[in-house]
Amino acid sequence: MDDVETSDATASAATHVLRKIFGYDTFREGQQEIIEHVVDGGDALVLMPTGGGKSLCYQIPALVRDGVGVVISPLIALMQDQVDALTALGVRAGFLNSTQGIDERQAVEACFVAGEIDLLYLAPERLRVDSTLRLLERGKISLFAIDEAHCVAQWGHDFRPDYLALSALHERWPTIPRVALTATATPATHAEIAARLNLENARHFVASFDRPNIQYRIAPKNEPKRQLLDLLRNEHPGDAGIVYCLSRASVDKMAEFLTQNGIPALPYHAGLDARTRAANQARFLREDGLVMVATIAFGMGIDKPDVRFVAHLDLPKSVEGYYQETGRAGRDGLPSTAWLAYGLQDVVQQRRLIDTSEGDDTHRRRLGTHLDAMLALCETIDCRRVRLLDYFGQKSSPCGNCDTCKNPPESWDGTIPAQKLLSTVLRLHRERRQKFGAGQIVDILLGRKTDKVLQHDHASLTVFGIGTELREAEWRGVIRQLLAQGLLAVEGDYGTLVLTDASAEVLRGNHQVLLRREPERKPSRSSKSDPKSTAARPQASDLSESALAIFENLRTWRGATAKEQGLPAYIIFHDATLREIATRVPNSLAELGQINGIGENKLAKYGQAVLDVLNNPDPEPNPEQSVLL
Ligand code: ADP
Ligand code: ZN
Repeated sequence: MDDVETSDATASAATHVLRKIFGYDTFREGQQEIIEHVVDGGDALVLMPTGGGKSLCYQIPALVRDGVGVVISPLIALMQDQVDALTALGVRAGFLNSTQGIDERQAVEACFVAGEIDLLYLAPERLRVDSTLRLLERGKISLFAIDEAHCVAQWGHDFRPDYLALSALHERWPTIPRVALTATATPATHAEIAARLNLENARHFVASFDRPNIQYRIAPKNEPKRQLLDLLRNEHPGDAGIVYCLSRASVDKMAEFLTQNGIPALPYHAGLDARTRAANQARFLREDGLVMVATIAFGMGIDKPDVRFVAHLDLPKSVEGYYQETGRAGRDGLPSTAWLAYGLQDVVQQRRLIDTSEGDDTHRRRLGTHLDAMLALCETIDCRRVRLLDYFGQKSSPCGNCDTCKNPPESWDGTIPAQKLLSTVLRLHRERRQKFGAGQIVDILLGRKTDKVLQHDHASLTVFGIGTELREAEWRGVIRQLLAQGLLAVEGDYGTLVLTDASAEVLRGNHQVLLRREPERKPSRSSKSDPKSTAARPQASDLSESALAIFENLRTWRGATAKEQGLPAYIIFHDATLREIATRVPNSLAELGQINGIGENKLAKYGQAVLDVLNNPDPEPNPEQSVLL
């Protein structure tokens, strides 16, 4: 199809591809405008949350326009899956990266030059190699898509130096449209992407960053292991999910702990050898109901649609990172949970990491700003979603689907406790020339004669025992929130507490300190009277009993088919598609073709098998299912 066609023709060509290839009825918010703009040859910068449907924004234009769409993606490990997913739709695609043998690479190159594929995935470092540029000169390119475009931004958290070279694409191929896409962009990152990729004159499309199906919850960290186990057992039995930990050692320990407690879990971090990492990632993508325990090395581009929860056991370093990580839950639009446990130790640890980080003061200040925003989110008494969206420059109203909306915390005037605490820190420093960590300060406030207190003769201090009105956990909450508000600071390897410039104002009584009182119980999605009831399984909760039985049969069929074909189950059909089949029970291929997510190719390939499952449900009892019903 050529560029001279009118935009009516553009629109209908795009809709035609959407229905025929992808099997979807309608575009999601923003997709149509972006696709038409790029089909017509325009440059675009697309900001859309994870799960918003960015891939279609370059895949459809690449199919409609003449030539091959070249997709720059940093996700080498996932290129095979991306190409498999397109192949399953009947789209011709290939990739070039360092994991390939020479024969395979040459075959893909030949297809590209001959125009026999519609999409070519490339790792950014390939573009630094002259031979790649020469190869690209030999084929006809329909567009450049720059995926994960925030990797070009130094302000962000995923900076990749190779991305800086991408501005050269425009110089070399000035007439080929470019579309850059990212799910993470504060106004600062947005501006930086536009500048570095020379996209100031492109059209900018900024979708709503809201992910309404994700429930955001941030809980005080008491006993993290037990808290996590409760979450997984009560709310997400049998679900796939990701658990993020800060260190490799805690990843290994947590994966083992979950496995010992009957929850199938795999570790993922940069300390594992490449083969184990790849194998664990592949299992997570392919099998149903696995939990991945990982450092943040895991996840970019993981487009598994049915991740039902993302749990953080340590404080993320920035809101951008947190939002991107939690965004990996619920791409299929079904209810999902983002849960974070956070405590005093997290603040101490993160501040220390920043103090000892490499790089100059500007860098450290930037890290500090990121952390402050994250802490403010944790300590807010407002709707979490309102705060999150505000961080991305978008206004919204309370969502009703986060912990503070469901169970509003009270704020209380903590000025007096704050003064008691700060003067304890001050006196220890003035009178004893010593600094202490949170533990001893709390012991002094509570008047506890521990060995250490006696050893340092703290009991003779005037502040000894002045804080018995609060419990230890409450004092730790006060310290945590003072740290978050910059009214107290930590210093050195032992995390000793020190005053800040702002502390003086509190001590003088010029600054009122508002604190968040933790609600006693956390909200939950469903009643827990019968943990085996289907209500405890949100994914299945809104299906009737008969539909649920069909859904489980379809899942069993999908699992077996995926295994047989060596594909991730979701590449065959998404849960959302199986649910729709289970609800509507089509009885012909034509009716089946009406279901969302079933395009021509999948109908031809799997249609009859699905009808067979519907007509002859497997008489063998499925053990998993009998637990559910
Ligand atoms: P992103 O890259 O923005 O995170 P994806 O492109 O992976 O999102 O899309 C998220 C999910 O939504 C995918 O499973 C995709 O198949 C599905 N999807 C995308 N566009 C549509 C649409 N118009 N209708 C229905 N499902 C869609
Ligand atoms: Zn809310």
